[in-house]
Amino acid sequence: MRRPLIERYRHRLPVSEKTPVITLLEGSTPLVPLKGPPEARARDVQLFAKYEGLNPTASFKDRGMTLAVSKALEEGAQAVAAASTGNTSASAAAYAARAGIKAVVVLPAGYVALGKLAQTLVHGARIVQVEGNFDAALAIVRELTERYPVALVNSINPYRIEGQKTIAFEVVEDLGGAPDFHALPVGNAGNITAHWKGYRELAEAGAIGRPPRMLGFQAEGAAPIVKGAPVEKPETVATAIRIGNPASWEGAIRARDESGGAIEAVTDEEILSAWRYLASEEGLFVEPASAASLAGVRRWLAAGRIPEGSRVVLTLTGHGLKDPGTAEREVRLPPPVPADVEAVAAAAGLL
Ligand SMILES: *Cc1c(COP(=O)(O)O)cnc(C)c1O
Repeated sequence: MRRPLIERYRHRLPVSEKTPVITLLEGSTPLVPLKGPPEARARDVQLFAKYEGLNPTASFKDRGMTLAVSKALEEGAQAVAAASTGNTSASAAAYAARAGIKAVVVLPAGYVALGKLAQTLVHGARIVQVEGNFDAALAIVRELTERYPVALVNSINPYRIEGQKTIAFEVVEDLGGAPDFHALPVGNAGNITAHWKGYRELAEAGAIGRPPRMLGFQAEGAAPIVKGAPVEKPETVATAIRIGNPASWEGAIRARDESGGAIEAVTDEEILSAWRYLASEEGLFVEPASAASLAGVRRWLAAGRIPEGSRVVLTLTGHGLKDPGTAEREVRLPPPVPADVEAVAAAAGLL
């Protein structure tokens, strides 16, 4: 039976007997061995997908949120708050519902992408639109947490990082050791910071030998870390990583440098091509941001930068059903045909 993430890794997390465990049985996601694209098979490189879309609210954010909301409750918060239009809000709303406290989501007016907010709304979060940009929304959330009994659950909350580091623990359990490379998309960079923290803790405890080289991938139109400066107007189809000034910038740099890894940019075209490949060849439907990991690894493979026989893990961060809009735009529905068997067979390509 699945166990709460906090119970599974209690000895490695900042919790005590007094911490109430708010859980939706997150984590324990499958590590799916991929058939692999031809450039991987040619070099005997085995790819594994950590399919985080199978978490309770369909993204890895739940790993951090179980801890952030549990600690918020322990510390007496009566509400949690986030500035986010995406998966952080959905996860915060679900865990707050479970805890019986309020979730407040503050958004810049006009930025509301209703599709992405559907979960947040139905879980019953209080959504407040403010007249201002995203930075203004975050500033207000920060101030709310100073003046009211409200806990901030954006990824600058250190408990989010603590919960998310468990991805590394699960990967090592499933592989029986560390992979050679671990690739993932980078937005606010909390997740690459968390992955690296998890691997480093295992290495320090002597549970693994050499930790993996961390490969972080940003979208070309939203690649502040690659360019070395904040991006004023980030743009990419991969909305979950459309971030111009990452909160955990320093953590990402440390993960890159200490692991001997890299943070690079991939184009939207490469992201969508990897996204299609994962769904149509591997049977894994992910949100576009997730596919940045494979897009980047395909580049590394093509350039011969991944040694023969390597084991490479990709974190597929969120489920494809999060973003049906991209699917609708990218894959057209064909026009109707007459209701007879031959017309249908012809249209289906069976003739
Ligand atoms: C949050 C998120 C990311 C980016 O993670 P960071 O910690 O912000 O770098 C990537 N993909 C999905 C699906 C996400 O929800």
